[in-house]
Amino acid sequence: MTKRTLQRVIPSQATSDGAGVKLRRSIGQSTQARLDPFLMLDEFGTENPDDYIAGFPSHPHRGFETVTYMLDGHMLHEDHLGNRGDLKSGDVQWMTAGRGIIHSEMPQQTEGRMRGFQLWINLPAREKMKPAGYRDIPAATIPAADWPGGGRVKVIAGTLQTPEGAIPGPIQGLSTAPVYFDVELAANGVFEHALPPAHNAFVYVYEGDVQVGAESPRVLPWRSAGVLSAGDAVRIVAAGEGARFILLAALPLNEPVAQYGPFVMNTTAELEQAVRDYQAGRLTAA
Ligand code: FE
Repeated sequence: MTKRTLQRVIPSQATSDGAGVKLRRSIGQSTQARLDPFLMLDEFGTENPDDYIAGFPSHPHRGFETVTYMLDGHMLHEDHLGNRGDLKSGDVQWMTAGRGIIHSEMPQQTEGRMRGFQLWINLPAREKMKPAGYRDIPAATIPAADWPGGGRVKVIAGTLQTPEGAIPGPIQGLSTAPVYFDVELAANGVFEHALPPAHNAFVYVYEGDVQVGAESPRVLPWRSAGVLSAGDAVRIVAAGEGARFILLAALPLNEPVAQYGPFVMNTTAELEQAVRDYQAGRLTAA
């Protein structure tokens, strides 16, 4: 097996979005910081409600998927069809915007805490205009496995291989074949796992630091995204305090990306159409 190395470190940057929600953006902080098909990764987390209380009021999306994973606190969600949901701690919402969704997302704290991630994954051209849809994945239905050496891995997408057997996550069969693991390691714990060689992959460390690679491992610091080189496996070692990170991998689309805020299409003409559709109230129409 060829172990992937740490090819590029993208430190997250403090920014704000929505109605002044403070967050940290790594993937997607510039157009050069994307990793096909991943468009953006935001970590939001604070104990100060003023940092997010106004949330993300009604806004549109077209052409990609948003994956929201709450670690602490919860997120109230409401869309143009009248769907309402409350994403609790540990829950995941896998939303396919497709041709259009208009929704609001309002983070809420629980016992003074609110923390989570939102990931944007691009859709291939042939799926950008498909009907919008959701997968709400309650925490209780996300499989988790103890990891040798004192760790734990949650499997949101893809399949985890353990000494006891394979553990498939709830998200399977998408055209980008995503892998989404949430990994917790004890001090000096080791996570070694196969990754499909055709997938692009990155790691985002949200507690502690890790070392990535087998031969001459490189440090990936706290709150940074680490883009991995080609290869068919990854080896990640937690620093002395232990670490928590998410590992993402997916098949690249190799298609042109045209983005205007919450619209991600292949051409400028398609973006202009999205803006016209939104202004005319036709964004979400079948
Ligand atoms: Fe949104």
